[in-house]
Amino acid sequence: MRRLHGIHLPHTKQTTDMPFVHPPLPEQVILPMVMHMGLACEPTVRAGQTVHVGDLIGHNDAVFSADIHASVSGTVKAITDYRLASGVICKAVVLTPDGAQTPSPDIAPPVYSGREEFLSAIRKSGAVGMGGAGFPVHVKLSTQQAIEYLIVNAAECEPYITADDRTMQEKRDLIRDGIRRIMEVLEIPSCIIGVESNKPRAIALMEEAAAGDDSIRVRALPPVYPQGAEKILIFHTTGRIVPEGHIPADQGVLVMNVSTVAFLEEYFTTGMPLVERSLTVDGDAIGRPCSVTVPVGTPLGHILQYAQCDFDAVDRLISGGPMMGVCQRDFEQAVTKTTNAILAMKEAPERRTCACIRCGRCIRVCPMHLMPTELEKAYLRGDLDRLDRLHISLCMLCGCCSYVCPSNRPLAQTNGLAKAVIRRNKEVQV
Ligand code: SF4
Ligand code: SF4
Repeated sequence: MRRLHGIHLPHTKQTTDMPFVHPPLPEQVILPMVMHMGLACEPTVRAGQTVHVGDLIGHNDAVFSADIHASVSGTVKAITDYRLASGVICKAVVLTPDGAQTPSPDIAPPVYSGREEFLSAIRKSGAVGMGGAGFPVHVKLSTQQAIEYLIVNAAECEPYITADDRTMQEKRDLIRDGIRRIMEVLEIPSCIIGVESNKPRAIALMEEAAAGDDSIRVRALPPVYPQGAEKILIFHTTGRIVPEGHIPADQGVLVMNVSTVAFLEEYFTTGMPLVERSLTVDGDAIGRPCSVTVPVGTPLGHILQYAQCDFDAVDRLISGGPMMGVCQRDFEQAVTKTTNAILAMKEAPERRTCACIRCGRCIRVCPMHLMPTELEKAYLRGDLDRLDRLHISLCMLCGCCSYVCPSNRPLAQTNGLAKAVIRRNKEVQV
C-alpha cells in the first residue's frame, strides 16, 4: 500500500517497561467543567457537600457534552473560576479528599438492551476520547451511517508517551472484550487494531486477544509520525481516504483510541465512570520517569513531585507529547480526562528563525500533501480565500513541517493561528 509522508522521530520511550503505579492522593483535586470537546458542564454540587467517588458533579443537558464525576471521596471545597491551558476560563469544582476513596452507592454495572440504551449508558460514564481530542464517545458512536471497520488506534507515535502501550500490556482482556461489545451492539463486522511495529510486546498481546476471532485483525504499522492521526491511520489500515470536509463515518470507519476501549469495558463491568487517568511522566527535568494512574483533577505539581522533578530546571511543562502537546501555565494545572502524558523539559538551545531558503522539505514531509510555505505566506498576507484554496482545513497541526525546517520557521504554529482566524471569521458571519 502507498504510504503517506511523515517523519521519523527518536524512539524515546523509557517508560515502556514501567507498570502503572498509584502515587499518594493529592491534598485537593481540581475538576474543570470543560475536559472535552463540546459545551461546558454546570456544577451540580455546592461547597461543603460530601461526595463519593463516581458521584455526578457536572452536567450539561446538551448532547454534545460529557458528564463529570467526583474522582475522590471527600468534601466540595469550592466552586471556582479556572483558567484552562488555552486561556479560556471555566468553572471548576475543587474537592478535598478524605483519603477513603469510598465509591458512590449508586455505582452499578449498566444494564442495557439495544443500541440506544448502550449509548445512553456511555453518556452517563462521562467517556471522552482519551487519545487527546476529548470527543464525547456517546456522540461519536451515535452515527447513523453503516460502519464497516472499527479501527482501534494504538499507534501512539509521539516520543515519550507510553500510556496506550502500557494499557495494552496491562489490559489485554478488557480491550478484547470492549472491542467485541462495541462491534456486537453497533453491528460492525470488522475491527483492525493499528499498532506501530516498534511495540512488539503490545502487538503480541493484541494478537493473543484477537486469536480465534477472524473479525479482529492486528496491523503492525511503520513507526512514522504522525501514524496515530486519524486520517493517516485510516489510510494505512484500510486504504480509505477521508476527503476534506468529511468524517471517518462517511467512509464506513469508526476510530477509537485503545485506552478509551479499555475504559469503556471497565465501565460496563464495574459501573465506575471516568474518574481516573493513566499517563506517562517523563522529560529531562524528571528524576524518576514513571507510568502513573491518578484521580482526574490531580494537580500536575503533585505528580511531578512524586516523579522527583527538578522544579527549578523546568522550562516547559507539556501536557501530551512534544509534537502536539499543550504547554501548561504552571504546576497547579490539573490532569484532565485527555492527559496521556506530562513532560517536564529543561531549557532547549535557542533556535533562531531565518528566511525561507525554498528547500521544499516542509512540503515533502507533510502527510496531508499541503504546502506549508504557501500557507504561511497566505496567512501573513491575511488572504483567507487563498488559505481556503490551499486546504488549510486539512492541516492537523502535526508539526512535521516545522520540525524539518532548516530555517526554524514556525509553520505549524502559523497554521494554528490561521485556523483560529478562519474559525473566528465564520463565527462572526453567523
Ligand atoms: S502541521 Fe499541517 S502543514 Fe505542517 S506538516 Fe502537519 S499537516 Fe502539513
Ligand atoms: S522547510 Fe523551511 S526553508 Fe525549506 S521551504 Fe519549507 S519553510 Fe522554506
